[in-house]
Amino acid sequence: MAGIYIHIPFCKSRCAYCDFYSTTELPLRTRYVDALIREYELRRNELTEAVRTIYIGGGTPSQLKSDDLARLLQALPTEVVEELTVEANPQDTTPDKLVAWREAGVNRLSIGIQSFHNRTLRRLGRRHDAQAARKAVEMAKQYGFTNISIDLIYATPEQTMEEWQEDIEEALALDVPHISTYCLMYEKGTPLYELLEKGRVEEIDEDTVNDMYAMICQTLNKAGYDHYEVSNFARPRYKSKHNSNYWNDTPYLGLGAGAHSYDGKVRRANHPDLLAYLSGLMHDEVPHTDEVLTANDHYNEQIMLGLRTSQGVAITERRLKEAQKYIDRGLLTIANGHIRATQEGLNILNRIIEDMMI
Ligand code: SF4
Repeated sequence: MAGIYIHIPFCKSRCAYCDFYSTTELPLRTRYVDALIREYELRRNELTEAVRTIYIGGGTPSQLKSDDLARLLQALPTEVVEELTVEANPQDTTPDKLVAWREAGVNRLSIGIQSFHNRTLRRLGRRHDAQAARKAVEMAKQYGFTNISIDLIYATPEQTMEEWQEDIEEALALDVPHISTYCLMYEKGTPLYELLEKGRVEEIDEDTVNDMYAMICQTLNKAGYDHYEVSNFARPRYKSKHNSNYWNDTPYLGLGAGAHSYDGKVRRANHPDLLAYLSGLMHDEVPHTDEVLTANDHYNEQIMLGLRTSQGVAITERRLKEAQKYIDRGLLTIANGHIRATQEGLNILNRIIEDMMI
């Protein structure tokens, strides 16, 4: 089983915290879809198994014109695809687009809500407000989407525990089967990072961040969501198949500027440069860099990805030796032949992972 990831790097404007590869060159969208189709034709032989999942991420895929998206999906091998996700911005989630997405075969939407507080949304530089976020989910359901995920961000500047609790309650009230939550990171080079450097915003202290994380874990667990990965919660049968494949070491083909691919041995990164991508494909070339994974890289990736999931990473003699001190402290535990993080361990998971890597 294999997956295809497609990167759509276009955004109407740039959010203050974002360091993903994206551009506001919207007039190039149709040319870009032509290039994506060509890249697929050139690289289709890299897929050695049937494609079961397609994930269109960004950027803002919902900024694609509907006929361009349909054309793109017609060019891809969708015969046995079980999950076809498009990331959508609430403001683009309109009746016309919802109809077009359904007709094109999209069966899962990931809606970037981030917060239900307008002050937070403004500070993050998001284009939508809380009302648009609620409306987007309601409309998606009305137009027949049942597999809906929403994203929330916590630890935003000046956010209180009460506000976070309200965000979680609003998310639950929308009754969606999948919720992803991310802790805000101040990435170098972003406007928000500059504000932090100038002392115009303050980071939330570590204890509060941990409390916020514990709050979402407890509340969603109680509401019947399975905490299947550090940042992801799903009702039964609604785990993201595509993302689960990343964590299970499954190969995937990444198309587009800035997209990554993995065939089990080599990680390939297409250069995050729209113009270089478009001009390269005029000559049937995709500017990219390959990284051949060594045995150590592979070991580290399995630790890094496995420990982020609720299943954990399979026990080996070496991993158990590295994990023992954390098991003794109650931060890791053993279950079903795997080593996995406890709730307490999740708070310092990055430190544990770093320490266990070679
Ligand atoms: S957060 Fe999303 S919508 Fe905002 S600039 Fe980044 S990719 Fe675009």
